[in-house]
Amino acid sequence: MPKFNLITKGDRQSEGVAATLREALLQRGMTIDPENPDIVITVGGDGTFLRAIHRHLDDLDRCVFIGMHTGTLGFTTNYATDEWDLLVYDLTNHTAPIVTIPLLKVDVETENGSITYHAVNEIRVENIIRTQLLNVTINQTFLETFRGTGLCISGQVGSTAYNRSAGGAILQEGLDLLQITEITGIHHRAYRSLGSPLVIAKDSVITLDSDDFHGALLCYDHESVKLDHVRKITIRYAKQKAQVMTRADKHYFDRIKNLF
Ligand code: NAD
Repeated sequence: MPKFNLITKGDRQSEGVAATLREALLQRGMTIDPENPDIVITVGGDGTFLRAIHRHLDDLDRCVFIGMHTGTLGFTTNYATDEWDLLVYDLTNHTAPIVTIPLLKVDVETENGSITYHAVNEIRVENIIRTQLLNVTINQTFLETFRGTGLCISGQVGSTAYNRSAGGAILQEGLDLLQITEITGIHHRAYRSLGSPLVIAKDSVITLDSDDFHGALLCYDHESVKLDHVRKITIRYAKQKAQVMTRADKHYFDRIKNLF
């Protein structure tokens, strides 16, 4: 029988629903295994779902993720709290489609070698202290020098998240493309960059380099690290994919309408 883990936002409502789910799944013969689960159910919001994937990055080949939302319908969370019995039914009867979400990866080159981070939504370079200069190269062809707060590089799932707030386009489910979106770029007579979101092929490799990343943060979903002593970062789709149980009855455009 499959082993499951339940990850909640930590509030009273999420804990209450999680307790009901736990009981229902145990009654159906499943067992709890927070370390090596086959199924990870999150109760909370999109943030809870993202944190669950980051926690189980090494288990992606085996795990199926299912999101339940305690607020409004999310993009990664497909079941409402009063649909817990439907979730259990879909899970045990294999009636819901499983989609795969390709993750993004960023290689950060430091003096001591390269460090890799993964993201579901987006990878951002942000410098809120001073103007950040970023040389943007795509597939070894130099595109531009950006000046401003930073750049957001997202995939399809992240297109409705930070990317959308920064003026990027929403990419329909199934369009596994990459998108580069400016975060408050500086455009005047002396400096000018594209100034528009750029959607590029999924196998593209994006390099951002700068002589000075002082004060800049590399944000990957809800996580961040300082880029102070870094010269170059490289972003592309990772080989890893997260498997997510979705709803056959929730069309992508209905989810967009509900959310926005
Ligand atoms: P969070 O969990 O509080 O999420 C922030 C908001 O982004 C929530 O409304 C959430 O529902 C929404 N969101 C997250 N992923 C989404 C997706 N794939 N599609 C549509 N909406 C989505 O914030 P957090 O845990 O600090 O950060 C997680 C994510 O939140 C980040 O990856 C980033 O995309 C997003 N975020 C967005 C903004 C913004 O839009 N200005 C700011 C911070 C973080």
